[in-house]
Amino acid sequence: LEDKLNFFAGVKSDFLEMLRELVNVDCGSSNIKGVNLVADKVKSFFKTLGSRYDIKTIVGSRGEKHLLINRPGNVPGKIVMLGHMDTVFPAGTVEKRPFRVEGSKAFGPGVADMKGGIVSLFFVMKAVEHFTDCDIMDIEIVLNSDEEISSPFSREIIEKSAKNASYAMVFEPGRPGGDVVTGRKGIGKYFFEVRGKSAHAGSNHQDGANAIVELAYKTIELAKLTDYGRGLTVNPGLVKGGISPNTVPDQCEMAVDVRFQTVDDGEQLDKRIKEIANRRHVDGTITSLRGGITRPPMERTEGNVKLYSIVHEIGKEIGEQIGEAFVGGGSDGNFTSNLGVPTIDGLGPKGSGFHTENEYLDLDSVVPRMMVAYELIGRLSKGGRI
Ligand SMILES: [Zn+2]
Repeated sequence: LEDKLNFFAGVKSDFLEMLRELVNVDCGSSNIKGVNLVADKVKSFFKTLGSRYDIKTIVGSRGEKHLLINRPGNVPGKIVMLGHMDTVFPAGTVEKRPFRVEGSKAFGPGVADMKGGIVSLFFVMKAVEHFTDCDIMDIEIVLNSDEEISSPFSREIIEKSAKNASYAMVFEPGRPGGDVVTGRKGIGKYFFEVRGKSAHAGSNHQDGANAIVELAYKTIELAKLTDYGRGLTVNPGLVKGGISPNTVPDQCEMAVDVRFQTVDDGEQLDKRIKEIANRRHVDGTITSLRGGITRPPMERTEGNVKLYSIVHEIGKEIGEQIGEAFVGGGSDGNFTSNLGVPTIDGLGPKGSGFHTENEYLDLDSVVPRMMVAYELIGRLSKGGRI
């Protein structure tokens, strides 16, 4: 392991330069120019790894570029590796707070979630090319540009890759304490729209059908579905409606975020939400419902836990304590795990404050995390299917 650790320590300054280059591009999911610039940069990095790498650019329905990179191996089996190139931050963020390093932390939009993971993945593959002493499965890398909006286009690419994969490795950031991720909640998004009938609040109130009152009943019913014991939340999070206090409102709408831990809970929840949409409290109102489950849960499957135990073992060998976490946020690991592919997530360097201006990447974790991912590839390739 010694010479591998030395290799990763030796690339750390290159790591920082590459990270700076990727962080200093505004690339929110809807910023097509930005994500495409990042995709072009990442593509040029991978090109330096040699002709073994087949790099395809897939253009999505909004004009955004996704990368599909194949590196054939010499033993049976395939490992899918996932990363996303988009962030949640609006244009102008880089100008306000560009990449910077303070002590052992790096800051900037997407520095941990997940530019750090992408650069990490790149250097892990560079190590694969450098040390030719181990057998390796086929590697398929999917780097998408729409993860932060639930991967509407790239889901199909990821699921196609996962279909015949033996394992999936996801380079989302590690938790601040070093945990990797073996389970994630599923996510649903629902949009209620209530139509009623407007009337003057003073002169003919009785002729109106109040859309806000109807939605209020529904809001309470929805909120009651929350069950912390099951890790299940229903959050009416955004509401709009009405035009003035002295008008019976004929329109209002609401967006709801739901999270759940198992496929069954997700199905149950979906059914209940539809029932609530269909149950009318205020005569004369009509409710329409859009949306549904956007990500299945990444259940803590046996396969995921087995991968974790290997990661934990590697950690011990290099003096890193690596625990496992079940988290509320989704990732593309939800898709692979849901297809039954043993999946380990949070393999990127440690970080914290994701999706906020406090986001940072723990630079001390860069070398050991790359080491862990590299070793994992080797051990999985040696061991075949688990
Ligand atoms: Zn992410």
